Amino acid sequence: MNDRPQASAGFPTVRQRRLRRHPVLRDLVRETSLHVHDFILPLFVRPGLGVRKEIASMPGNYQLSVDCLVDEVGSAVDLGLYSFILFGIPASKDATGSSALDDEGIVQQALRALRRNYPEILLITDECFCEYTDHGHCGPLATVAGRMDVDNDATLPLLAQQCVSHARAGADVVAPSGMMDGMVQAIRAGLDAAGHTEIPILSYAAKYASAFYGPFREAAESTPQFGDRRTYQMDPGNAREALREVALDLAEGADVIMVKPALSYLDVICRVKQAHPDVPLCAYNVSGEFSMLKAAAANGWLDEQRTTLEILTSIKRAGADMIITYSAKDIARWSRT
Ligand SMILES: [Zn+2]
Repeated sequence: MNDRPQASAGFPTVRQRRLRRHPVLRDLVRETSLHVHDFILPLFVRPGLGVRKEIASMPGNYQLSVDCLVDEVGSAVDLGLYSFILFGIPASKDATGSSALDDEGIVQQALRALRRNYPEILLITDECFCEYTDHGHCGPLATVAGRMDVDNDATLPLLAQQCVSHARAGADVVAPSGMMDGMVQAIRAGLDAAGHTEIPILSYAAKYASAFYGPFREAAESTPQFGDRRTYQMDPGNAREALREVALDLAEGADVIMVKPALSYLDVICRVKQAHPDVPLCAYNVSGEFSMLKAAAANGWLDEQRTTLEILTSIKRAGADMIITYSAKDIARWSRT
């Protein structure tokens, strides 16, 4: 700290505008900048051949069959993107989401095809069951004290199996998203027992029960058939609870932690980063954040490029080291022009 008297530390000696006058100087003093390698692109894979179905509420994003996914990743790699997170839409759903565990499942097929074509890219897999269960919840159900709910402890070994199957198929990082208590510990033990000590866990540590997931549910066909996810995802009113969730996941062995969504939770991102400055922090710029901006831009109400970059800068400035965003391809394109 500077102990000198502060007598001259004000106008007219101090003029903050001096550093804003020259555009190159503004570049030099900028505290937060975005790079293409900050971004992870989410992708949705479904069965079939030649399927490239645009998600109506998320322009530029598609449900893709494996062959089309390979092409899509190829064009993203050409733009300089190398990190991807995969979500699967299976051919069949049941009460426990058993197709998620199948080595011939849709995500496993996608992993093998992508691994074969692009050995250099990073493949992250979302680990949950809501896309695979016929009821759309994040694990098998049980009735506890008269209420139907996800059976936490019954979900844990299934999550571990899902992660091992994905690791075997070529996943580089597993990302459990179901907010089950003990999920990181169960997955770490499962991966290690199967010989996958090298696979990091990116935990959706503080995931909120958010209305901003609306368009994603169309994309992933994962809308709950009854009730909602408030018995496992967090209440939007809580920030201290997020710190507790993160601390527990780190104690269980999480390598990277996530806050989701991002834009309405910048304070949470900031507090998590301050509490755990040494741990890599991911933020998920979710579907609703993307869609509302696209809709406003389509109406001519907002400048799409400037607004997108401002939002993503705010997420990084708040403390995110990496950002999952549907805008990744747009940003990569803009950064070339
Ligand atoms: Zn889920």
